[in-house]
Amino acid sequence: MKHDVPLGHSIPAHYTHGWCSHCPGRSIAEEAAAWQLREQERLHRQKTEAATRAGEDRPLMDLIDSGLWWLINRTTFHPRGLALALRVDETGGQILGWQLIPADDGEPFAYSAEVDRDGFQRAEATMRAALQGGSGDDA
Ligand SMILES: [Zn+2]
Repeated sequence: MKHDVPLGHSIPAHYTHGWCSHCPGRSIAEEAAAWQLREQERLHRQKTEAATRAGEDRPLMDLIDSGLWWLINRTTFHPRGLALALRVDETGGQILGWQLIPADDGEPFAYSAEVDRDGFQRAEATMRAALQGGSGDDA
């Protein structure tokens, strides 16, 4: 991938995001949000990899953060006209139950492109960590 960074623009931002706040139509707030999102993803990856290495049980809520809930819905349930819905407690900290919900006629379940991109990245990071984890004590 080749990046031509215009004079006066941010080289790190162009290498990372392909644009910077000096680019036409972009703002400092937008660039800050992009860096923040990237950092959140990095921290999530780090946490995921550490838990995987430690061979720890992960909380059920982590199914969502891990991207695996997205992956299951996206690849298994949505194409079949179903969605695995999770009921979360009021604080959003615990999964209380689940339901398999059928789609309405002619209205298949679909995630937005943004949710798909985020879910894909999270699921890939989770699976990569599991493949690389190999703590050796898994019998
Ligand atoms: Zn720029």
